[in-house]
Amino acid sequence: MTIAAYNDETVRHVGNSPIPCHTRLGKILKAFRQGLTDGQREENALKRVLVFAAHPDDDIFGCGGSLAKHVKQENQVSACYMTSGDAGSLDCRKKELARIREDEARKAAQVIGFQELTFLRNPDGYLKHDEENLKKLVELIRKKRPNIVYVHAESDAHQDHRVTFHLANEAIGRASGPLFRESKEKPWNTDTVLAYEVWTPLSDFNYTEDVSEFIKEKVASLRKHESQVKIARYDEAAEGLARYRGVMTGKGQYCEVFKIVKASIAF
Ligand SMILES: [Zn+2]
Repeated sequence: MTIAAYNDETVRHVGNSPIPCHTRLGKILKAFRQGLTDGQREENALKRVLVFAAHPDDDIFGCGGSLAKHVKQENQVSACYMTSGDAGSLDCRKKELARIREDEARKAAQVIGFQELTFLRNPDGYLKHDEENLKKLVELIRKKRPNIVYVHAESDAHQDHRVTFHLANEAIGRASGPLFRESKEKPWNTDTVLAYEVWTPLSDFNYTEDVSEFIKEKVASLRKHESQVKIARYDEAAEGLARYRGVMTGKGQYCEVFKIVKASIAF
């Protein structure tokens, strides 16, 4: 979350994927995470999760509890940071801040148990929906072959967050077809895309995850982003928001909510 790039630019709607009912995706994810036999454990380990974040810490704020839940179920979780958050403080030079924030992201990821981090190092506050970024994301999606992608919500007020949403969705579409020949990797169709809330709470969401068991991990992970938490208590904001979602949805003590962008798992 980098306050420097905040603006209230009008958001265009691009989502055109089929949206199933809440219950259906709930069943899919529940089955995905329930008690595992050895065979299922082996199969589940093949389930791959990829989260796109504009800045280091957005992933943990938006869906850290759900990601910790995936890790507990032995899913492979990877993160891709579009920028390294070099505009997130006035205390030091951009290059030095980017280095600090990448270190913080690694420490935060260790708390949750991510498998791999990718830093694309775009300039913080100036993320562009361009050819170079699209190619990188298509390549990454085809390489990581995620079953589930988490990404910023289209309705977020932060410009970098919205651009990340549009880039990821465009790349997911291009990665699935045979036409994007710049990439050497084979086409890959991502089954499920869930949009998380960070800067702007979601006013319409259609999936809720109970993360009560993982709220301590989420907050502990967020606190590894020391350079940000010392500016504003994002750890308290994330915990409070999760508690609010828990109370208002009635789905658990602490919850994370999402907008389903795509859900096409056949079962
Ligand atoms: Zn951010």
